[in-house]
Amino acid sequence: MTVGVRFLGSGNAFSDGGRANAAIHITAPGVSLLLDCGGSALPAIKKHVDPGNIDAIAVTHLHGDHFGGITFFVLEQHFAGRTRELAVGGPPSLEQRLHAAEQALYPDFYGRVELGFPLRTHVLGVAPTTLGGAQVSALEVRHVRLSEPHGLRVSIGGTLIAYSGDARWSEHLAAVAKGADLFICEASNFDRDDPAHISYRQLMQHRDELGAKRIVLTHLGAQTLAHLAELELEHATDGTLVEV
Ligand SMILES: [Zn+2]
Repeated sequence: MTVGVRFLGSGNAFSDGGRANAAIHITAPGVSLLLDCGGSALPAIKKHVDPGNIDAIAVTHLHGDHFGGITFFVLEQHFAGRTRELAVGGPPSLEQRLHAAEQALYPDFYGRVELGFPLRTHVLGVAPTTLGGAQVSALEVRHVRLSEPHGLRVSIGGTLIAYSGDARWSEHLAAVAKGADLFICEASNFDRDDPAHISYRQLMQHRDELGAKRIVLTHLGAQTLAHLAELELEHATDGTLVEV
């Protein structure tokens, strides 16, 4: 069985290089799961995927470039006539923060119009949750505490896809990547020290500790984009399809 990993949005919060915010679509027979849905995800999704074919969304952390697009996604799906359930999983405060975003952006719709489909939220943790046909677990990583940062481990059959979300280097990040067939890792910075984000240089220093078979970089910031020719790891652009 082949698992498809489509990088719909491969950019950082600032959309450096004109890239869309985080959105990664995982597909396999019976599986259609979006990892993160940043503020600019919906137009990036529509370039490659009918949003109606996405069954679930798993969110790494509560920063707008990772979950800010859900409010637009749900609104669009209501008016597109969706009737199938949409499941959204993420950190403990996901439901509360989604409601806050809904009321800030479309108070005339959310809470006043009955959604045409069931929208269910799940808190993801170490124990796997079935989401979009996959088994998804969330492990805490070190990023910005208020965003409740997690890395994701997505199991489909015998294939394991791991995703850093946003994270600085720590042993927690190694636990996310351990044994993965594909580790999707953020690369906001090339070699700049940052209390919230791992750099490409740090990742290379710790590469053997990760225990991942393959690594693809995403969430590329301006500094990393300026050093693309020096990268020894694969990197995504908006639209890149990786098969595992
Ligand atoms: Zn973040």
